[in-house]
Amino acid sequence: MQAGKNYLRLNDQVEVIAGKDKGRVGKVVQVYPDNYKAKVQNVNMVKRHTKPNMQNQQGGIIDMEAPLHVSNLMLICSKCAGPVRVARKILENGSKVRVCKRCGETIEAKA
Ligand SMILES: [Zn+2]
Repeated sequence: MQAGKNYLRLNDQVEVIAGKDKGRVGKVVQVYPDNYKAKVQNVNMVKRHTKPNMQNQQGGIIDMEAPLHVSNLMLICSKCAGPVRVARKILENGSKVRVCKRCGETIEAKA
């Protein structure tokens, strides 16, 4: 994997490997391919002040995820049951998949 390459996709299971939420595991809920960042469910929460709207008629302060740099995240292999390094493989039909460098298992997000 090239340094800084954003290989994460929506619904990936990842572990946080650096920062205040180190060790937390969560699902990728948003990716930012241009700046190598991703949001992970319930990780790196920040307080946001909001105005009243349809969802939140009171307004006020809500907790929401802030994006993390992908270098702070590692993809989890379900077979290894832990964070692993990822390799890329091109299948016979030309599609690219991510594979676990440890066990060789294909890692694809389950929607
Ligand atoms: Zn594996």
